[in-house]
Amino acid sequence: MTSAVQASRLKAAIPPAEFYSMELPTMPAPRPGQGWVNGGLCPFHPDRHVGNFRVNLESGAFTCFACGAKGGDIIAFVELRYGLDFADALELLASR
Ligand SMILES: [Zn+2]
Repeated sequence: MTSAVQASRLKAAIPPAEFYSMELPTMPAPRPGQGWVNGGLCPFHPDRHVGNFRVNLESGAFTCFACGAKGGDIIAFVELRYGLDFADALELLASR
């Protein structure tokens, strides 16, 4: 199985809303069907003000207006958050 196939399977298996609810304890509970929502405090800088960090519950993309952290899906989030490369990020997500 190629990593691209593995990546798309993982993304299909893990809804971004569920993933971010687990990863972001300060994120307000998401309602289904929303796009960009408040992600709570940014995990990539010492964030004291909710509102800078946004996550997209459809694509899994994330962006922070304060520190500039951003990525296109939950795999990119795991890479950045835990300092992993793409393959290790896939492995971590698969083990969840
Ligand atoms: Zn930030």
